[in-house]
Amino acid sequence: MRAYVPSYQLLSPGSLAEALDILTQNESWKPFAGGTDLMVLLEAGKLPHKNYVNVWGLNELRGIEITKDKITLGALTTYSEVRANKILRDEFPMLCQAAKETGGVAIQNRGTLGGNIVNASPAADSPPALLAYDAELQLVSKRGNRTIPYFSFHSGYKQIDLRPDELLGAICLPRTTEPLTHYYRKVGARKAQAISKVCFAAVGRAINNHSERVRIALGSVAPIPLRCVRTESLINDRPLDAGTIAAAKQMLANEIVPIDDLRSTNAYRSRVAVNLLEDFLTQLENQR
Ligand SMILES: Cc1cc2nc3c(=O)[nH]c(=O)nc-3n(C[C@H](O)[C@H](O)[C@H](O)COP(=O)(O)OP(=O)(O)OC[C@H]3O[C@@H](n4cnc5c(N)ncnc54)[C@H](O)[C@@H]3O)c2cc1C
Repeated sequence: MRAYVPSYQLLSPGSLAEALDILTQNESWKPFAGGTDLMVLLEAGKLPHKNYVNVWGLNELRGIEITKDKITLGALTTYSEVRANKILRDEFPMLCQAAKETGGVAIQNRGTLGGNIVNASPAADSPPALLAYDAELQLVSKRGNRTIPYFSFHSGYKQIDLRPDELLGAICLPRTTEPLTHYYRKVGARKAQAISKVCFAAVGRAINNHSERVRIALGSVAPIPLRCVRTESLINDRPLDAGTIAAAKQMLANEIVPIDDLRSTNAYRSRVAVNLLEDFLTQLENQR
């Protein structure tokens, strides 16, 4: 166990333009936001690079903007800020639940949504909620900005659609007036301060005994935070009956690829994932 932080360089630019200049000039510079993932790795001697651009002070990456159609969260939005926002609590309760169950108070005050996304851990807690809410990401660089569906951001274990000269600028959540069932469960070894064994997020609604707008995403069951589109397509626009529920459970078991690791087993993760799906669909049925 190392008990010291190896030497590193940290530049603190005064503006987003200055930060993007540094990232464009030399690929060895990496963004540093709250540092709650990076400092752990750095202290453990697990980071190959030692040059950081401190983005924490950049106001351009802060704030929660609310318009009629969407909510835009600056990449530096902390879990505490998510939890404190009433509109997010009313309209995106799964994201607030994820924030509430992430780390402890210190991590919630310092850890950012942007850092959670770019760190790309398959066990992270906000990605399943963001996937189920169909979030979009705004990526910024000197070459211009681009907006992509979050669904397309993760392509493999720790492989993401972010170029070395880009920063994640913001996360956009589309608003809806439709009443939806929101179902979020983090399953860990403890109720707090635990890394997920399985994380399940789903939204949808049932009308005339048919399911609609169902979107399902899971964490800790694949190399990436996984949107389960094949399971969704078995559920959407179908009668919400025992046959559909059984077929959906079977499909989910095929769609996820959990592993055995020190936190859990493939068998446990699979069983829990399908049980949570059944619980979600039962709630959907009861709320119609
Ligand atoms: C004790 C402890 C408990 C934790 N508990 C949980 C938990 O329960 N659930 C969970 O999901 N996570 C947990 N974490 C992990 C961590 O706190 C989160 O992933 C957090 O959101 C990371 O945000 P950050 O701002 O600190 O990221 P940083 O550590 O600053 O950065 C993480 C990565 O993102 C990149 N990055 C950051 N911001 C940007 C940006 N705007 N654009 C481009 N790249 C960027 C960095 O270069 C780095 O690669 C825990 C960590 C600790 C130490």
